[in-house]
Amino acid sequence: MKGGRDLRFSTIAIHAGQEPDPATGAIATPIYQTSTFVKEAPDRHKGYEYSRTGNPTRHAMEANLAALEGGRSGFGFSSGVAAISAVLQALDPGDHVLCSRDLYGGSYRLFTKFFARWGLNISFVDAGDLHALDAAATKKTKLLWLETPSNPTLRILDLRALSDWAHARKILVAVDNTFATPALQRPLGLGVDVVVHSTTKYLGGHSDVLGGAVVTDDAELAAKISSIQKTLGAVPGPMDCFLVLRGTKTLALRMERHSSNALAVAKHLLAHAETLTVHYPGLPSHPGYDLAKAQMSGFGGVVAVELKGSAQRATRFVTRTKLFALADSLGGVESLIGHPATMSHASIPREERLRAGITDGLIRLSVGIEDIQDLLADLDQAILASLN
Ligand SMILES: *Cc1c(COP(=O)(O)O)cnc(C)c1O
Repeated sequence: MKGGRDLRFSTIAIHAGQEPDPATGAIATPIYQTSTFVKEAPDRHKGYEYSRTGNPTRHAMEANLAALEGGRSGFGFSSGVAAISAVLQALDPGDHVLCSRDLYGGSYRLFTKFFARWGLNISFVDAGDLHALDAAATKKTKLLWLETPSNPTLRILDLRALSDWAHARKILVAVDNTFATPALQRPLGLGVDVVVHSTTKYLGGHSDVLGGAVVTDDAELAAKISSIQKTLGAVPGPMDCFLVLRGTKTLALRMERHSSNALAVAKHLLAHAETLTVHYPGLPSHPGYDLAKAQMSGFGGVVAVELKGSAQRATRFVTRTKLFALADSLGGVESLIGHPATMSHASIPREERLRAGITDGLIRLSVGIEDIQDLLADLDQAILASLN
């Protein structure tokens, strides 16, 4: 990309980090499937030495993701949880982390099963309540970990207010931006210090790659993340980086369609006689609606719903959809359906899960970009088929 400082999001998505290949002029970033790079002398090379330290395909993806988030430094990881780990590994044993209670199940497991043992003290709080944060913060609190919209209840947190609260106490703020993607929400512009992604979801967008990323403007943190990436080695392979780069080219378009389809699904379910509750930040009845409207440029592709009847009805429902496939993950072009209590959030103890609003009957829909009429018809037939 030549110049490009004033370009807008969908243009940046297609061009950032991607020059025509210097050797051949190839417009698509080549997959540099190589572990090492030949040197002219022990201290003379062409910018690359060994692929754990750096690889041209990975660098293109890292530059692309940094540009999309409006950040200076981007780092690729082999999965979303590896990216999250890298941020926590930048802390020292004994440090305290404040963590939003509304959290992806895998993050909860990572924090409680691994990083607690590693010497981090972690408190789970209602991050929507500044008094609760005040009460939980200590002199050793170094990081506030947030997710908005949250997985799977779609709670919305005020990133500007939380960043102001944290910075007044010299606490860094991290946001897992997987659900919104930078197409809909750019946390660094709201004061957040570091953004993490599971690129497995919307950034890849086609359910064919596992990956993660960290983007930050904080030079000190960037140096630590860079060292952790190189030293611990949870890096993505060149093919995976290529797939994510290919995914981000259509991110703006896909997020528009995911959002409009999800809004239609949410409205349809809300009006359905068999529905108990619908969680979607684009519904005016959602408690985070005004905040989401102010902080995001779209409401995203995930909808959570509870049907009337027992938890068994929820498990019947998720097996009776035909287009919505019963599978973990989200953010691909195809619609998926899941049951958080037994799938994505099964690692959270039931009591803690219920406190976060993840009931046994809650169903999570990752609304894809198929034709909306086909999706609504599929949900309608499954609602009827789940009656008994
Ligand atoms: C899936 C997910 C992750 C974990 O990412 P992986 O690529 O599966 O390791 C982290 N955060 C959120 C919000 C997710 O949905």
